[in-house]
Formats: sequence, C-alpha cells, structure tokens
Amino acid sequence: MERLFCPFIKRNAEDKAVGNLKICVYPGSFDPVTNGHLDIIDRAAKLCDKLIVAVLVNSRKNPAFTLEERVGLLEKVLKDRENVVVESFDGLLINFVREKNASSIIKGLRAVSDFEYELQMALLNKNLDPGIETLFMMTNINYFFLSSSAVKELARHNGNIEGLVPECIREEVIKKIMK
Ligand code: ADP
Repeated sequence: MERLFCPFIKRNAEDKAVGNLKICVYPGSFDPVTNGHLDIIDRAAKLCDKLIVAVLVNSRKNPAFTLEERVGLLEKVLKDRENVVVESFDGLLINFVREKNASSIIKGLRAVSDFEYELQMALLNKNLDPGIETLFMMTNINYFFLSSSAVKELARHNGNIEGLVPECIREEVIKKIMK
C-alpha cells in the first residue's frame, strides 16, 4: 500500500526536532498592561509555541511606570500562561526579534489612527528583514476604546478602572497613579 505523505505535518515534526519553535514577539510600552493587551496576548499565544511580550525600555511616551514596574505587572498577570514570557528590550525591535529567533511580530489594531503608524513600522521592518512578518490582530470589540493612557487618565481623576485592567493589578495601578 502506498504510504500517505502529508508535507505540512512532516515539516512541523522536523521543525520541532531541531528545536525550531514558532516564536512570536508582542512589543509595546505596557504602561500599564490593560485588558486590551491581555486579550491580544491570549489570542496570539494560541497561534505560536512561545509568545514573548517585549517591554520597550525607553518608551517615547515618557512612561508613568518604571520598566521594572511594567515588567512586574505583566509577570503577575501572565504567571499562569504556560507559553508566554515577559522580556524587555532596547534599541531596534527587529534586532530583538532576530536575537530571539522569532518569526513574527504581533501588533494590535484599534482604530484607523493606529493603522497609519503601524503600516509604516511594518513596512520599515519588512525592509530591514524580509523574513520576519508583522501580524495584525483586530481589537476585541469590548476594548476598542481602551488604551494605557485612558486607564491612567481615569485613575488620576478617581474614575473607575474596573474591567479595564486585570483585577490582580487594579489596586497597584491606582496606588501608583495617585501617588
Ligand atoms: P498603548 O497604545 O495603549 O499605549 P502599547 O504601546 O503598550 O499601548 O501597545 C502595545 C500594542 O498593543 C500595540 O500594538 C497596540 O496597538 C496594542 N493595543 C493596545 N491597546 C489595545 C487594545 N485595546 N486592543 C487591541 N490592541 C491594543
């Protein structure tokens, strides 16, 4: 009897054999992590073997939380996710992605305003390394309006941030912002 041959399964098996896991990088400021980020993380983690949440060291956005705090909050939130790790990076994202042997960059898209900037970054990165893909994930409709800046603004003015950030970090976020 002729042997069945499935190229897709065979390639996957070979990839695993040489330790060639599918690694994706999800970069951002995470100042602080919100439920919008978490939604993207959980969906992206299903598409790869390992997801690296990469926290930008020198955010242009002048972060309210220090790098250690941003990483610490993410680690607390993600501690039970088996294939998700938190790291930080400085300099060019594409260099970090290469260093980690990752194949793709994950980006979340909320509004058209996100698209213009993200398109430019994706094309720049494609130009720097054609082997690395940028994958865009549409926001969850429930988090369309949600950004770290909105969370900070609300917390600063005593607004309710319940449901906007993971419950296990809510108090910590409020305390830091009110300080
Ligand atoms: P922010 O724009 O909230 O300051 P970051 O720089 O930390 O966020 O964003 C990291 C990534 O997460 C970006 O790709 C951004 O588009 C995405 N992202 C942020 N908030 C959301 C959300 N509510 N829904 C989908 N993607 C989001």
